[in-house]
Amino acid sequence: MLNIILCGAPGSGKGTQSAFIAQKYGLQHLSTGDVLRAEIAKGSELGKQIGALIANGNLVPDEMINGVIENYIASLPEDCKGTIFDGYPRTVAQAEALTEMLKKYGMDGLMIDLMVDEQLLIQRLIERGKVSGRADDNLNTIRHRIAVYHQQTEPIAHYYLHHGNYCAVNGNHSMADVFLQIMRIIDKSMNN
Ligand code: AMP
Repeated sequence: MLNIILCGAPGSGKGTQSAFIAQKYGLQHLSTGDVLRAEIAKGSELGKQIGALIANGNLVPDEMINGVIENYIASLPEDCKGTIFDGYPRTVAQAEALTEMLKKYGMDGLMIDLMVDEQLLIQRLIERGKVSGRADDNLNTIRHRIAVYHQQTEPIAHYYLHHGNYCAVNGNHSMADVFLQIMRIIDKSMNN
């Protein structure tokens, strides 16, 4: 099974590249942001709490998101070719939990880190905000989300480097160029 863990700052292109990867390699695409937004759309009490966290640019608690992933992995169909994890893990505790959950089913994952310059991230998110309608795509929240990324998410690179399944990709280029770099990495890992 091919599990890809796609990481990167907000605006690094995770959603776009995940869709390309899912299509090309026949993988399931799991975006934790989408799962959480679906819960908000239900209007549940939980959804309201999640909505407030997301609108302020903060992460939802690890236990909550780890539970979502645990249920997802446990219910994977037998013929599943693998998953592209988009936006998960976002903390070292989540990365540790994912390793354990995958291990339980005899699986592992390849972490691909999309590296994008900060100015470009902000520019992309502001552009996206004009059409996305997302409460968190405004300048103040974007700045906070990037700070949260540096503080809580960036350290997972060291975690995966240490575990030997880390690859960095220059995400400053066009969508097509970035996808080419990603394909090279995935194809190489499949041939090993
Ligand atoms: P995204 O759609 O990936 O940009 O995620 C939007 C927001 O959902 C993030 O800013 C977080 O508030 C929340 N979120 C998504 N994935 C996670 C995660 N793995 N851990 C905690 N919060 C998350």
